[in-house]
Amino acid sequence: MQLYSTNNKNLKVNLRDSVMQSLVPDKGLYMPEVIPLLSRDFIADLQSHSFNEIAFKISQALIGSDIPANDLRDIVNKAITFPAPVIMLNEQIGSLELWHGPSLAFKDFGARFMASLMAYFTKNENRRITILVATSGDTGGAVAAGFYKVPGIEVIILYPSGKVSDLQEKQLTTLGENIRAIEVDGTFDDCQALVKEAFADKELNIVYHLSSANSINIARLIPQSFYYFEAYKQVMKYGKDVIFSVPSGNFGNLTAGLFAKRMGLPVKRFIAATNINKIVPDYLSSGVYEPKPSLSTISNAMDVGSPSNFVRILDLYNGDLDAITRDVSGFWLDDKATKDAMREAFLNYNYICDPHGAIGYKSLKDLTKDEIGIFLETAHPAKFLDTVESALNIKIEIPEGLASLTGKTKKAVKMDSAFDSFKSYLLDR
Ligand SMILES: *Cc1c(COP(=O)(O)O)cnc(C)c1O
Repeated sequence: MQLYSTNNKNLKVNLRDSVMQSLVPDKGLYMPEVIPLLSRDFIADLQSHSFNEIAFKISQALIGSDIPANDLRDIVNKAITFPAPVIMLNEQIGSLELWHGPSLAFKDFGARFMASLMAYFTKNENRRITILVATSGDTGGAVAAGFYKVPGIEVIILYPSGKVSDLQEKQLTTLGENIRAIEVDGTFDDCQALVKEAFADKELNIVYHLSSANSINIARLIPQSFYYFEAYKQVMKYGKDVIFSVPSGNFGNLTAGLFAKRMGLPVKRFIAATNINKIVPDYLSSGVYEPKPSLSTISNAMDVGSPSNFVRILDLYNGDLDAITRDVSGFWLDDKATKDAMREAFLNYNYICDPHGAIGYKSLKDLTKDEIGIFLETAHPAKFLDTVESALNIKIEIPEGLASLTGKTKKAVKMDSAFDSFKSYLLDR
């Protein structure tokens, strides 16, 4: 598998280098040189394959001979250890529940696949690898769980102080061992900027072998294409056109869906669903792309004002707005409407959405009779306990994995958002 930089198609690397480096030296993002078209037979026959087989087939098509088949099967099976069920709310709307993994968010797919791939690539190396990751909430927990106690790899998680939920904070600050947390006095965008600057810093790169676990890393995107196939498989029997609505922040999840379509999955269209950080919906309707500082909302994992994977979408469509809008439409809700959507799903279908999934749910209100709409339920509602309980006026049960966190002690280093502070912290350790 060869990958090129979105800033320079002639700059090519193999999978290993792109995964270990994550960010291209020229600040572009790596894109697969070839997105292979899977055979029609394979897609027509999806129902006879297990989720893990589908995941293996897609990985093999993408990754090719970079990893021997047996090793690749192993990597896939270590990462994909939980299901991705589609729960039908009515005949036309389904929820693709992506929260059955350890951190209860879809990011477990990407984080676990990446951890398993990195462990494979570094198993004969002596040098310690340091992974820097900025989180708006759920990435931190997934990466912490995915890399916990992986030998030779240390993880440093940066999160915006006061802007993640209590349970999210516990997930990333209580594990210890090879996982460290930095509480930044700033926004998610500040955290992301610190990580990007660290990668570009010469001194740091002499001392550290740095890598990233944000969705800029291609190892996170690859496994996210698996579950679009898995979802499609579950609704093929209805014989309708399939639409996916993707609650989006950095747009890695949507990019992976577009990869799936390029690989031949017959998706009619996608909806890019956001909160008031609606940079991409605005772009889709006006053609003007205007990153802005992020605003805080109750769907905090989507509080992103400068979505990092957007350049990948542009690259995939050669910057052709018309081509993009044929495949993707925009949708957004403010907090009040998000709560209304949560109430609507609960009252009409007795289904509890988390605030992110609720926006996806609401975006599917105008389906035609021939369409089936699937929204990605990107996190378990218990991760946003206060919001969900107060919107629905109910008590929800906390899954065991989360409940056990409440008694644990938070360990985080507090820091301002200046790069110098972060750099000295790294150099002085
Ligand atoms: C990260 C996250 C998103 C946004 O996903 P992107 O791939 O960054 O667009 C949406 N919902 C939840 C719950 C998340 O954790």
